[in-house]
Amino acid sequence: MTLVYQSTRDDNNKVTASQAILQGLATDGGLFTPLTTPEVNLDFNQLKDASYQEVAKLVLSAFLDDFTEEELDYCITNAYDSKFDTPAIAPLVKLGNQYNLELFHGSTIAFKDMALSILPYLLTTSAKKQGVDNKIVILTATSGDTGKAAMAGFADVPGTEIIVFYPKDGVSKIQKLQMTTQTGANTHVVAIEGNFDDAQTDVKRMFNDVDLRAKLLANKTQFSSANSMNVGRLIPQVVYYVYAYAQLVKSGDIQNGDKVNFTVPTGNFGNILAAYYARQIGVPVGKLICASNENNVLTDFFKTGTYDKKRAFKVTTSPSMDILVSSNLERLIFHLLGNSAAKTKQLMEDLDNAGEYKLKDADQSILDLFAAGFATEKETAAEIKRVYEESHYIEDPHTAVASAVYQDYTEKSGDNKPTVIVSTASPYKFPRVAVAAVTGKDSGDDFAAVQKLHELSGVAIPAAVDGLEEAAVLHKTVVATADMQKAVEDYLGL
Ligand SMILES: *Cc1c(COP(=O)(O)O)cnc(C)c1O
Repeated sequence: MTLVYQSTRDDNNKVTASQAILQGLATDGGLFTPLTTPEVNLDFNQLKDASYQEVAKLVLSAFLDDFTEEELDYCITNAYDSKFDTPAIAPLVKLGNQYNLELFHGSTIAFKDMALSILPYLLTTSAKKQGVDNKIVILTATSGDTGKAAMAGFADVPGTEIIVFYPKDGVSKIQKLQMTTQTGANTHVVAIEGNFDDAQTDVKRMFNDVDLRAKLLANKTQFSSANSMNVGRLIPQVVYYVYAYAQLVKSGDIQNGDKVNFTVPTGNFGNILAAYYARQIGVPVGKLICASNENNVLTDFFKTGTYDKKRAFKVTTSPSMDILVSSNLERLIFHLLGNSAAKTKQLMEDLDNAGEYKLKDADQSILDLFAAGFATEKETAAEIKRVYEESHYIEDPHTAVASAVYQDYTEKSGDNKPTVIVSTASPYKFPRVAVAAVTGKDSGDDFAAVQKLHELSGVAIPAAVDGLEEAAVLHKTVVATADMQKAVEDYLGL
């Protein structure tokens, strides 16, 4: 039996895992979602001694069941290698009454590396399986982080080419250097004279341009997307929840079978949705605590059942969570409505037309698994300071949002089950914010803050920022928004 992935908006749109990965988004606008829970034998007395790669193999073979064993081995060994600065890949650190699951040991020191390091291999393998031998071209507009993580993942992967557009004046100094120093013959970085929306709009236009598509096909190339709605990004995220639970059993902090809470700093709802699937395949989960910053749409949604995006967008110190429409929530809605595509489609239309939807007749047993809360900017900074003073450990602002929401949750609910704080970025990615929270002083410059952070925490400066100031700038192209397509055609020799 092959696991069926169905579009959340059309009962008739059913595909296998590799088809879902190759297509990315369903053509009806829905998201491909597993219709049933695959059988996985999670024996934690054995898994506690398994490597990250072995856990990945177990989980991926269950969800991506049209891949052969050899194909999965190829993808996993190429993804989770020395790109990560620790063989544990995702280490768990005990801090007082919480466990921080560090998902920032990959090339760009943030959690997107966990999935973007394997996606290129899943994508090219899926293409082969579907008899597609075109070169896969990833086209991305980025406001800073995703573009770099995607490039790091796709750099020098055979059969792929990646082109990233970023707003010339819209990214931080560190973000810009991270992108312009990217190595890999198949990576292309272009600054545009415009903002992120301009870049995003023209990338979308190119994806849908029929003439451009024909030109690409004539050259045996095709576009594909690396965005977080792709099944190839969602499923690899299930792995570290299983791995984290196994580590807790191994350390003796819990007994096999004890329930554990997970607090997830949430933006697009991809990471916490992966936690839900981990629970479905058998990880003993107490609560999944959805943590937001001041853009607290999800907190309100879990409290009231109404998703209302009609509110001011706030710019915070945890920018990867500054989101008003959490795309991946659509998959949970689909499950909450008994896997009904018709009902899900209706709610998504309500969101488009009226800016909100109301959940009715939702599966209470699923809703009961979730708790939600948000942290203000002030609370987030105070949490960075609290953790530093108690444990001499510095959290990044995204992780601190989760940590603050958890402290508030445990105090108010009295639930003191062991809790994992999903730690999505290294503080070295946001050094000025982290240092200011601890010392009360602004360092003035990203690189000065990196040094100060090192003095305060004693944690080695990761390769992702060490030496960045001196690294060779390899990408210098700047184009007007109107010339983005020309840049693409030049790179691809069209
Ligand atoms: C992307 C991101 C998030 C949000 O994850 P989602 O899967 O979109 O909910 C949180 N923290 C960091 C550092 C991120 O990069």
